Amino acid sequence: MDRRELIRSMMASSAALLASKTAYAQNIVSNAGRGMAAPKIKDISVINTAPEGSRLCVVKITTDQPGLYGYGCATFTQRADLIEPAVTKYLKPLLLNHPVDRIEDTWQMAYDSSYWKNGPVLNNAISGVDQALWDIKGRMANMPIYELLGGKCREAADLYGHAEGAEIADTIASAKRYMAQGFRHVRIQVGTPGMAGYGSPRGNQARIPSLHDQPVFEREAAKKRALALFEAARKELGDNIELLHDMHERYTPSQAVQLCKDAEQFRLFFMEDPLSPEDIEWFQNIRAQCTTPLAMGELFNSPHEWTPLIKDRLIDFMRMHISQMGGITPARKVAAFGEIFGVRTAWHGPGDVSPIGHMAMVHLDITCTNFGIQEYTPFNQVSQEVFKGCPEMKGGYAYANDRPGWGIEIDEKAAAAHPFRHNTRNGVDLNGGWGELRLPDGQIIKQ
Ligand SMILES: [Mg+2]
Repeated sequence: MDRRELIRSMMASSAALLASKTAYAQNIVSNAGRGMAAPKIKDISVINTAPEGSRLCVVKITTDQPGLYGYGCATFTQRADLIEPAVTKYLKPLLLNHPVDRIEDTWQMAYDSSYWKNGPVLNNAISGVDQALWDIKGRMANMPIYELLGGKCREAADLYGHAEGAEIADTIASAKRYMAQGFRHVRIQVGTPGMAGYGSPRGNQARIPSLHDQPVFEREAAKKRALALFEAARKELGDNIELLHDMHERYTPSQAVQLCKDAEQFRLFFMEDPLSPEDIEWFQNIRAQCTTPLAMGELFNSPHEWTPLIKDRLIDFMRMHISQMGGITPARKVAAFGEIFGVRTAWHGPGDVSPIGHMAMVHLDITCTNFGIQEYTPFNQVSQEVFKGCPEMKGGYAYANDRPGWGIEIDEKAAAAHPFRHNTRNGVDLNGGWGELRLPDGQIIKQ
């Protein structure tokens, strides 16, 4: 072989080697992109259970892969019996044999398939499917979902507890108990003598005069009582505790402006739901009058409601109920939207969210840079037997576990042992609903 042939031969073999390396790399990329065939949805069912009294609904999706399934919260306590048919009669036939990996596509399909949309029953049904598909994706990846959301940007979610009492001294004592456990944030609510309260017992005082026998509420008395509570709390608890309060939409818009303004001197962490969703244009009046931070959103169903408040910076905290808005897919988009406008998250976390739903919030809390605060609900022993792997609460923080997906397994036999129970008022079966709240003259007001 002369020198020229030798060079030609070397060039040919190096080209062959390069071609072979490229083909190998392409093969790897191709395989990585293709992955294994996506599992398909084999069944969708609803687990109804009430381990602590509140009616909880969880969607379970099983796949055609043995042992691969997921859970999603679809809890709408006050109309709980409507969730199962919404899931099994509508979403299940639509989604059977659908691949489990296309969560965004599945969400859009489920959302649009009813044409009429943005209501709590259908949104909760979609949330159950949505969160179950995220659970399945996490189990397939062998990762907790917070890893799929970009990984932790904090170790745990700071919590606020519910301090309450029929009397101001009871609420202060309740707050002190939370502070002794390490809580840095406490929501304070107090009863008003003779009236139905929110987030607090009524006490033994005689009922105020009224023209009916239903729960009664008088707005001006409750407003004065709230201000007296804030003053006592600052005096008794000091300046180093963050105080929150829920107005629960019970006041007129001008009373709401007044109470937020009068509360300014007590430096609340936030005032919650000062207005009902129907009155949200009044937020600009509150903003113009005071610096009390505002939290809003637990009744919101759709972007039509939260977008104006966030883009105009009229609230400080968004606190939507994640299953009510359709699951974690829309929630993470809204969280990112709020980040741009300086609005922080404070997802709605009472007892009528299942532990699956609470865990979904904790995964968002620890991955969103604009996290604000998380509402705390303890899980009793029975709940922890039904939902194995509930978020761990310690020192005023909630922690996710490191197991794949949401990290929770449901004992379905234990869940079945705690069925929905009926609640009645004045002999009327409310079937999980809230009944009515009236002014002394008999007019119904928002709960
Ligand atoms: Mg509230």
